[in-house]
Amino acid sequence: MTTTIDQLFNVADFVTEEEREWQLRAREFAQTKINPIIDEAFEDRRLPVELLPAVGEFGAFGMYMEGYGLRGASSVAYGLVAMEFEAADSGFRTALSVQGSLAMGAIYKFGSEEQKQQWLPAMGRGEAIGFFGLTEPQGGSDPNTMLTSARRDGDQWVLNGKKRWIGLATIAQVGVIWAKDEEGVVRGFVVPTETEGFKATAIENKLSMRASLQTEIELTDVRLPADAILPGAKGLSAPFKCLNEARYGIAWGVMGAARSCLEAAVERSQTREVFGAPIGSKQIIQAQLADMFVEYEKGMLLALHLGRLKDAGQLTYGQISVGKLNNVREAIKIAGNCRSILGGDGITSDFPVMRHMANLESVRTYEGTDEVHQLVIGRELTGIAAF
Ligand SMILES: Cc1cc2nc3c(=O)[nH]c(=O)nc-3n(C[C@H](O)[C@H](O)[C@H](O)COP(=O)(O)OP(=O)(O)OC[C@H]3O[C@@H](n4cnc5c(N)ncnc54)[C@H](O)[C@@H]3O)c2cc1C
Repeated sequence: MTTTIDQLFNVADFVTEEEREWQLRAREFAQTKINPIIDEAFEDRRLPVELLPAVGEFGAFGMYMEGYGLRGASSVAYGLVAMEFEAADSGFRTALSVQGSLAMGAIYKFGSEEQKQQWLPAMGRGEAIGFFGLTEPQGGSDPNTMLTSARRDGDQWVLNGKKRWIGLATIAQVGVIWAKDEEGVVRGFVVPTETEGFKATAIENKLSMRASLQTEIELTDVRLPADAILPGAKGLSAPFKCLNEARYGIAWGVMGAARSCLEAAVERSQTREVFGAPIGSKQIIQAQLADMFVEYEKGMLLALHLGRLKDAGQLTYGQISVGKLNNVREAIKIAGNCRSILGGDGITSDFPVMRHMANLESVRTYEGTDEVHQLVIGRELTGIAAF
């Protein structure tokens, strides 16, 4: 099961046995369950929902959380699982992030004990699916422009508003909706999707993340009991804390997509003969492969470093931005270069590369765009917020 890229840079040398075990199990899951169906799912614009209970059984949903039947694994182990899932498809890894890091993360970090008991075990097993509703149609980079409102009416909350790009909401049983209360403070609400006035519609015309599910949500006088509010979440820093968990997973995940592209390009360079010799015998192709491998290895080392900092409780927002910005940007460059090495065949589904390329465009945009992360890093450097 080791790949060429693995042999040259073997992450196993730097992780614990338990972390390596998670990685190998995730690789097997990806290779035996996701890979055989992913091209068709992408073609059909369909998240392979039938695999979600198997992901629950595998133990990946919320795997780094403690209690509630969850695995209490390290952040590095989680990163390795995200990487192996994303080596198959970024869209499938996105489902892991939305359910685990975002929806479960919000309840785990900010929920009441009752909310945790009610949802976390079932979500961990993949029996309940959750979403995280922050972004609105008027612009995701600045969630402070949020228009969704939460008004108190007796012993109930009443939610109204619209959300866009929300993962998994049409198949979810529950979601965390972020809304401004009457004082203008952002609060989180646990919303069962069967509640009257809740409507989710799938966004169908995506050319990226086609084997993934994103939706628009309309909330029309959605009435919730007083205890639907997440008691620990007050202000925008709460959803940002959840986003940071997901951003951390992305720094690892995209290295899986990059590895998958590199593997295809290396193999092709050894077998494709043009001008009477394998293209891999041309120095210019080897230089490209070498440069991509250098960026892959740097990205892996960065992800591992962030993981170790996270497990030590020392990871900062600025460091997460460095990881998300760099690794997504480099994965996009690697995917593009590998596509060109594959020649015309590279634009077909004979190879996973064009699918990764298309998917990575979404990954660049969600969880903070390139520009947003540049501004976060710039603020760290200068002390000046330039958003
Ligand atoms: C596939 C996918 C899945 C998603 N899943 C979820 C989800 O589950 N839950 C959820 O809540 N959201 C989700 N999102 C939303 C995502 O977080 C937003 O798309 C993202 O925050 C960017 O917002 P936007 O698309 O409105 O772009 P905009 O905010 O309109 O940005 C447009 C452009 O302007 C740039 N820009 C914005 N502000 C500045 C500035 N101050 N200076 C310089 N440039 C700037 C941006 O970098 C970008 O290039 C998802 C999005 C996608 C595509």
